[in-house]
Amino acid sequence: MNILIFLGPAGSGKGTQAQFLTQKLGYFHVSTGDLLRKEVASKSDLGQQVESIINNGDLVSDDIIISIIKQTLNELVAKSDCHGVIFDGFPRTKDQAMALDELVHSFNFNLPSVIYFDLSLEESIQRISGRLIDSRNNNVYHKDSNPPPEDAMPFLMTREDDVPEKVTHRYGVYQRSTEPLLDFYDGRTTTLDCLQSIHTLNQLLIDNVDSMNQSLHSG
Ligand code: AMP
Repeated sequence: MNILIFLGPAGSGKGTQAQFLTQKLGYFHVSTGDLLRKEVASKSDLGQQVESIINNGDLVSDDIIISIIKQTLNELVAKSDCHGVIFDGFPRTKDQAMALDELVHSFNFNLPSVIYFDLSLEESIQRISGRLIDSRNNNVYHKDSNPPPEDAMPFLMTREDDVPEKVTHRYGVYQRSTEPLLDFYDGRTTTLDCLQSIHTLNQLLIDNVDSMNQSLHSG
């Protein structure tokens, strides 16, 4: 099974591109943020435990995240139609990355390929302030650059952690905890300049998956 890891700050387009690739390739999209928000919405014990952490823009503990990922992977490998997984927002710390390496090894998956969505703080704030989410399916839109379809209008919502102060805080957390993973994944990372159009980024990702498949088949 192929694994793609999407690394990048809030607003860099990870969710939008994951949405596109899952439709195009039939991969599964695993967003730890979406999984956690679902727990919060259902008011489960876990949801109540993590709600304020998420709303403040801090990181949920590695133990919680790793156990969610283990459970999700167990469910996905049981599906015969799962050929690939896109991790959007995971791993976010070195301990999470090491745990993923162990899981990849134990499940005998192909080595993950990492896509780095490069975006400045200023651009992150600017993009997040126009972000809209379809509450039915978590599809992500932007009021100017990627407007939602008409039928989504009654279901659009904004996230509590998407206000500028919290985006700035999340960007700092990202720089301290997640950016160092670029060293951890040195040699298997492709960097995308997120200022390119959504369409160009779509194509670059398809090319990346093609070359990943070619190198797997030739090696
Ligand atoms: P996201 O939707 O990826 O922006 O995630 C929203 C929030 O969920 C983050 O700001 C964190 O509070 C939490 N979260 C999501 N993924 C992780 C992760 N891999 N590790 C720790 N916290 C996470």
